[in-house]
Amino acid sequence: MKTYTTTIGLEVHAELSTNSKMFCGCKNQPHESEPNAHTCPVCMAHPGTLPVPNKEAIAMVMTFGQAVGATRADYSEFDRKNYFYPDIPKAYQVSQYQFPFLTGGEINGVELTRVHLEEDTARSSHELTDSSLVDFNRAGVPLMELVTEPVIHDAATAGNFGRELQLLLQTLDISGANMERGEMRIEANISISDTDKLGTKVEVKNINSFKAVEAAIEYEVARQRKVLEAGDTLVQETRGWDENKNCTFSQRKKESAMEYRYFPDPDIPKIKTTEVADFSPESLTNRIPVLPAEKRLKYKKYRISDDIADIIISDRELDTLFAKVADLSEDSDLLSLTSNYLSVDMVRLRAEGVVDVASVPAELLLELMQITLKGDIGSRTTKDVLPKLPTLTGSVAEYVKEAGLVQLSDDSALLPVVADIISQNPTQVEELRSGKESVLKYLVGQGMKLTKGTANPQALEKLFLAEINK
Ligand SMILES: [Zn+2]
Repeated sequence: MKTYTTTIGLEVHAELSTNSKMFCGCKNQPHESEPNAHTCPVCMAHPGTLPVPNKEAIAMVMTFGQAVGATRADYSEFDRKNYFYPDIPKAYQVSQYQFPFLTGGEINGVELTRVHLEEDTARSSHELTDSSLVDFNRAGVPLMELVTEPVIHDAATAGNFGRELQLLLQTLDISGANMERGEMRIEANISISDTDKLGTKVEVKNINSFKAVEAAIEYEVARQRKVLEAGDTLVQETRGWDENKNCTFSQRKKESAMEYRYFPDPDIPKIKTTEVADFSPESLTNRIPVLPAEKRLKYKKYRISDDIADIIISDRELDTLFAKVADLSEDSDLLSLTSNYLSVDMVRLRAEGVVDVASVPAELLLELMQITLKGDIGSRTTKDVLPKLPTLTGSVAEYVKEAGLVQLSDDSALLPVVADIISQNPTQVEELRSGKESVLKYLVGQGMKLTKGTANPQALEKLFLAEINK
């Protein structure tokens, strides 16, 4: 069997979360349920209207560039990409061709080719009636397009690039980047080759999750290998991803750049980015919060595992709460304990609708962790107190004391409990004496029950063994 090298390049579109659209004052609300609620003569392509570029959308692209180490163009312009489709009534899309805003840069070790800005198209639907309907709420929404170099060689790297890009867009607060809602769309250019030259490129579209990105690449690599090994040739084409059948299917032969007849849009002024104060590196830096890569380094310092760190970093609510706790204490034992409770128990409590993470006071969470670490309360109690934090009026210490939840570790407090249980369970005690160790768990469980979960289980265990071996 021949060895093939897989080569993948990605193209990603992300809707930018500006207030207004790219070239008009309409609200940027592509998910509005009422069709055509946010439209005007400009985004409806009426003759004689003039587009005005959205400065904030450009600033967002520039901010992104600064975060990924891209080179910002001094000069940039918008072009017309000519094609007709019912969802593009001007018969062209305003995009960028020769002078994109950004070139270069890198995410997760994957080099970027370019990043440019364009307008989104309207949305056609073919399901509701016999005829097709077009909704223009999405027409003219600012769309950032990013193209990577063809330097990815496997599905997992492509999926992880997408996840990291999504996290970055969300951290920078420039796109919701939700794949299912179409706020972020990935296309993969995939080829395989058994020589030094690149093979025939196939573009896969309509991929709406990171899992699907990986599955589509794996499917396509296997399909291309099969075609080549049967002695056939591959066709350069665009294929769609069928989520239900888990396969790609041929859509159309790929248009070349020539067929779009790009030319500079004469209605939009050229942009000299160096002359705009808001695009200066200093003002862009002010817009950049702590980025995921930097956060990961901090988590490492606190001795938090990569898996737990990623759960928290990719969850805005947890990340915000954790950052507040980390502002109050630098103790890595405390922060590591906090990360455990956040990534497991807080996630579960939120899913159960028991706690609103945003309303948990960081000071009280920190105090709960402190008394847990000290052994004043047991982990069962800690989990019970977590959802009570938002409504607590005093300190956590006061609350657990009043509620009788303080952990009993003292021999003097626990001995009567142990004696009680031993006298009530003679059979089990005999079994334990004769070496059946699993009984010890049962006896400790009885102790926990009797003390309403406040006994220290390790202390109970020690006492049981001591009493029985007397
Ligand atoms: Zn408009």
